Amino acid sequence: MIIKNADFEITAVNPAQYPVSEFPEVAFVGRSNVGKSSILNTLTNRKSLARVGGTPGMTKTINFFNIDDRMFFVDLPGYGYASVSKEKKSSWETVVEKYLFTRVNLKMIIMLLDIRHSPTKDDKTMYKWILDSKIPYIIVASKADKISKGQILKHIQVIRSELQISPDIKIIPFSSQTRQGKEDILDIIGTLL
Ligand code: GDP
Repeated sequence: MIIKNADFEITAVNPAQYPVSEFPEVAFVGRSNVGKSSILNTLTNRKSLARVGGTPGMTKTINFFNIDDRMFFVDLPGYGYASVSKEKKSSWETVVEKYLFTRVNLKMIIMLLDIRHSPTKDDKTMYKWILDSKIPYIIVASKADKISKGQILKHIQVIRSELQISPDIKIIPFSSQTRQGKEDILDIIGTLL
């Protein structure tokens, strides 16, 4: 899939604010700081479509990006920021849960995990939600440039076994620095069109 134009469409919290459209949607989820903004920018060839390195844990909104007037990329709020209050956590849950479990346009979930680290408790909860949603998904192991090439497979195996991801599910090493994995991910997203 080739992306020519990507533009911010709208910010939403409630379903009533989601765009009215029939475009398929690809949602990006992951811990704060995992590289979600960076992958959105890399996939769309934009420097700052999504804001990189913003204050972690602050954004509780869903951002929709219009991809060539035929698809939306959906940036779900990051999770796992240590110092958020209980109230903030539950507002995060409401926002994300509503989207994942009610949005009929949602056709694929891309879950990001930092390739260097074992999945956290929050990652495990998120992964369970993804399985419960029954939406097709792929796992992207971000920041692959931060480990040596020879270590990549080992780290992927840790992620696979910790989350008990079945062998037919792809885990794609990705780097927004080297763009490793970009074409593979775009090809998979392209199957929705
Ligand atoms: P988000 O909070 O998930 O949206 O994460 P960001 O995209 O804002 O990235 C968090 C930090 O990790 C920033 O300092 C990025 O520059 C850095 N980062 C993101 N992706 C990569 C990557 O692929 N390689 C490296 N080396 N750093 C990255």
